[in-house]
Amino acid sequence: KKAKLLISACLLGQPVRYDGQSKPMRDVDWTKIHDRFELIPACPECLGGLPTPRPAAEIIGGSGNDVLTQQASVQSGDGQDVSQAFISGAWQTLRLAQQSDCKLALLKANSPSCGNRQIYDGSFGNTLRDGQGVTASLLSQHGIRVWNEEEVDALLRQDGDG
Ligand code: SF4
Repeated sequence: KKAKLLISACLLGQPVRYDGQSKPMRDVDWTKIHDRFELIPACPECLGGLPTPRPAAEIIGGSGNDVLTQQASVQSGDGQDVSQAFISGAWQTLRLAQQSDCKLALLKANSPSCGNRQIYDGSFGNTLRDGQGVTASLLSQHGIRVWNEEEVDALLRQDGDG
């Protein structure tokens, strides 16, 4: 039986990003991925009720966990606080992952929702800092191991459910 892998919908080619585009993974072995995993696509920001396209957003004053604990906020470039949508989307994504028995997730790097190692620093100046996005943080806290699209080789080397 294949392991379940939660995957950012935009990496599968679904046009769900803020700019209405997708980010399909190109330099990966899709055959191997499909051999190993049953894919469960999700877009946390869509699940949180945000429209596509939508203004780009960054976490202001912290990282994803700080948003979950209301020590930081997510704001869009036009100054709206979209924290609640991001938090709601994270919890819905976690619920989907748990209902689908996903212990692994492959999420888009650097996103304020999906980034597993780095996020933009809140300056809207295209500058990365260390830290996780809101959904990546919540999934990690619940024992789901989160990889990004640059780490697919390492993900494929995982044994069993990882
Ligand atoms: Fe992709 Fe995640 Fe952004 Fe949705 S929230 S578009 S899945 S990076």
